Amino acid sequence: MTQNPQRTPSVLVIGAGATGMLAVIRLREAGITNVTVIEKADRVGGTWRDNTYPGVACDIPSHHYCYSFEPAPWKAQCATGAELKDYLEHVAKKYRVIERVRFGRTVTSCLWDDAGGRWTVDTDKGDHFVVDFVIAATGILHHPKMPDIPGLDSFAGPAWHTARWRHDVDLQGQRIGVIGTGSTSHQVVPELVNAGHQVHVFQRTPQWVFPFPNLPFPEWLRRRWIAKPERMRPWKTFYKAFIEQFFVKATVGHPVQNALLNVTVKSYLRLAVRNRDLRQKLTPDYRVGCKRMVVNFTFYPAIQKPNAHLETEAIERIEPEGVRLKTGRLVPLDALVLSTGFHNFNYVRPMTLVGRNGHRLEDSWGQGRYTSAHAVLMAHFPNFFLMLGPGTPIGNNSVIGMAEEQLDYVVRLIGIWRRGEADEIEPTPQAVSAFTRYIKAGLGKSVWTGGCQSWYLDADGVPVVFPYPWQDFVRSMKEINTHELTMVRRPRLENAHAL
Ligand code: NAP
Repeated sequence: MTQNPQRTPSVLVIGAGATGMLAVIRLREAGITNVTVIEKADRVGGTWRDNTYPGVACDIPSHHYCYSFEPAPWKAQCATGAELKDYLEHVAKKYRVIERVRFGRTVTSCLWDDAGGRWTVDTDKGDHFVVDFVIAATGILHHPKMPDIPGLDSFAGPAWHTARWRHDVDLQGQRIGVIGTGSTSHQVVPELVNAGHQVHVFQRTPQWVFPFPNLPFPEWLRRRWIAKPERMRPWKTFYKAFIEQFFVKATVGHPVQNALLNVTVKSYLRLAVRNRDLRQKLTPDYRVGCKRMVVNFTFYPAIQKPNAHLETEAIERIEPEGVRLKTGRLVPLDALVLSTGFHNFNYVRPMTLVGRNGHRLEDSWGQGRYTSAHAVLMAHFPNFFLMLGPGTPIGNNSVIGMAEEQLDYVVRLIGIWRRGEADEIEPTPQAVSAFTRYIKAGLGKSVWTGGCQSWYLDADGVPVVFPYPWQDFVRSMKEINTHELTMVRRPRLENAHAL
């Protein structure tokens, strides 16, 4: 076996959100510094840069939803979007991520060169890179989905998606329509209602809501954290345990946690919404947790205010004056907010991704079935890592935690290359099939097959999630099972990529 400790790869990371930034940090820790990040926007931050709607906040406790190596003295249990954006910008500076990022360019193609055994990557600004590894950190939900409602373009007033908030529109005295009732809507609607606007919420499907008051941390406690950051460790441990032992286990089918979750959300609805008719309208007919659980404490109070109107009749079309319902009633509006979610399985697309022997991403996923090995490796795409790929998310758990586990695994895989044991590493098709079977086998007990439509589902209605406890996710990547991998050595290229 060749030992060549000098071999240092070139790595291209796509996206400077929380995961792409983490990739730079983890690679540098491992001694890999030839790293370039391509970011389409002009700042780091990903979802927390893009989403600036009123009320935007994390719905996972921030001591858990942050990097394990960079705790922060959060102002409240769940940080606002602005606080998270500042946190990521702080990390980007402190860990010198910024210097690796090329902003304002979008990757248009990633092509595997069979002859050279490397990736060629092009951007819309004419950049051309040839690299050993690509890490796609493009996130799960980043392409806003516009609703396919007839007449949307005919609306006379301003209409915009929550992920592209129009801060220039003066909403004073306006009648605002909000289409959609997902996690985002549950955050934005209370802000609009509490600001005194007339708000019409168009609900197609009600959501189960887990009550979690976003209590602020007192200043004296934050000062103690700032003075001694290790004092935050028990808080992280507590929230991590809460999410992993309660939330994740409830969703993957542990009976006690699941029963507790059911009692909690159903009691909350009963106690928080006193009007029986309204409560009826807000009661889902599917299993608790089937759609991603909304974690919120402000929506139910807001929707009961006189200036909030829950519209549950189906939408017929949008007209210049407002929303026409199937019953024929027109809801007159001045502004329209589309809280209609994201194209869930875009991952790296729309860029062109072509792997070994001309294999295109569509050849693997064209039927709307998304497969991977360990939610990060794809057959036919050597030396390519798709962060948070098919097989994540894990319920309402922190995607930053998932990315940390995946990157440890990725760095160890790159270690194989660095030691010269292989030049090209990809999962075998059998490993992908085995991981897909493993995921499917766990779904039966999970809540995600509980009779609902959700952004977790693929073209066959199969949830694309990890349906096991967190520890199983961690364990599945602790060891590198070489029998899961095709590892190609290219004798001709010995030392070719050495620094
Ligand atoms: P979402 O959960 O996909 O919700 C989209 C909403 O729009 C649903 O209520 C959907 O109704 C409705 N909708 C879509 N098309 C429609 C149409 N043509 N007519 C009527 N209604 C339509 O999107 P989201 O609320 O933006 O949340 C997406 C995910 O982002 C969340 O699940 C979560 O993972 C993440 N998120 C996280 C946080 C956080 O704090 N960490 C905050 C916000 C969002 P149906 O239910 O009937 O399809």
